[in-house]
Amino acid sequence: LKEHNAKSLWHPMAHPGDSLANPPAIITSAQGVKITDVDGHEVVDAVGGLWNVNLGFSCQPVKDAIAAQLDVLPYYSTFRGTTNDQVIQLAEELRKFFAPDGLTRAFFTSGGSDSVETALRLARQYHKIRGEEGRTKFLSLKKGYHGTHMGGASVNGNANFRTQYEPLLPGCHHIPAPYTYRNPFNESGPERLAQLCLQALEDEIAFQGAGTIAAFIMEPVLGAGGVIPPHKSFMPGVREICSKHGILLIADEVITAFGRTGSWSGSRHWGVQPDMMATAKAITNGYFPFGAVMIADHMTETFEKDTTGKAAIGHGYTYSGHPVGAAAALACLAETQRLNVPENAAARGAQIHRGLLALQEKYELIGDVRGGHGLMCALELVSDRATKAAVDKKTIGKLQKVAYEAGAMVRVSGPNIILSPPLVLSDAEAATILSALDSGFAAVS
Ligand code: PMP
Repeated sequence: LKEHNAKSLWHPMAHPGDSLANPPAIITSAQGVKITDVDGHEVVDAVGGLWNVNLGFSCQPVKDAIAAQLDVLPYYSTFRGTTNDQVIQLAEELRKFFAPDGLTRAFFTSGGSDSVETALRLARQYHKIRGEEGRTKFLSLKKGYHGTHMGGASVNGNANFRTQYEPLLPGCHHIPAPYTYRNPFNESGPERLAQLCLQALEDEIAFQGAGTIAAFIMEPVLGAGGVIPPHKSFMPGVREICSKHGILLIADEVITAFGRTGSWSGSRHWGVQPDMMATAKAITNGYFPFGAVMIADHMTETFEKDTTGKAAIGHGYTYSGHPVGAAAALACLAETQRLNVPENAAARGAQIHRGLLALQEKYELIGDVRGGHGLMCALELVSDRATKAAVDKKTIGKLQKVAYEAGAMVRVSGPNIILSPPLVLSDAEAATILSALDSGFAAVS
């Protein structure tokens, strides 16, 4: 397998020359929150698949739902008004969940990038129906990650995901993110920073012209950019500014929806009602590529009551509303509720956050500890706390390898170690992650 891997496979988000990364080996099986590699080594997966396996790897009700659905209706298209029973039931369940947030219609997709693309396209169409033809631009946060389609890549805040693929969508602009540790403004305090970022948003809107902007897209907690939670005033502030200027607010909740932050969604965590919510990942717990965009009532009205003829949706995927994916999602939602998963995410997230702060006391390498909002935590590593110079790749690579040998798979992203374990994590499994990291730091300090 190792030889074929090197010869035959290109890995997403890696250099084509990198055959086996460090340490993510070849994973051959998984149970509960643990994965086992080709050499038989078993560890707690502190990555949670890829922020998506919230319920762990052996969720029997989901497996049963998928198996049952495969026997009854494995696929049928949902184009042009045809649909299936599973997807109607799922839309109804999601409506119940998100009605308190003003989101009552679902548009189904095949994953996170598709959900982002769907939201961007529906935003433009919404404005066209209203005769606001000039509203075509998109604003987003620096350090935001919105998937890899051309639209999503255009609003990505990290140039590493953009420049290789330019030219991208014109009219996409990125504003500073409220990143306290490397503050884009030289003024201190998370609340003040949030204010300055909101001011930067106002300034960008004024510069571009409010009537040219279709939507602002943001993650409620920046995920792939390094787990950067904003001050609690930030997202409500964004909501207020968007409403004032007739700009739609798209919450990219591909990571944060369904419990990750300790709430049912990141928007709800901050008390905000977005106009659209892009979801995917945990909606099927990794069992099936699937996503949903939740749509606000006022947008629904604009589309459904349209008399201009512009509301016909020229968008959708062969696998939009896949019955097997919908059956999996229904089972995941039921399990998430039954196990009260968001509550456990909050408790275990607090435990890990405390443990990481204790590690920071012990190891100079830890410049910043981020967490406190469910099971999304990160450590930013520096070679010198005073200058905040990033740690070198070799050190962080060795740390990751030792942590893996000591019992936990952690994700390395630039100078950050990111933790996003399954939300059903136990107290003891959280402790294993912390002690594995402790071993990793001891080996490189
Ligand atoms: N948006 C966010 C916030 C994400 O984190 C991701 C994936 N990590 C995506 C969109 C893209 O999702 P996918 O990889 O399923 O296309």
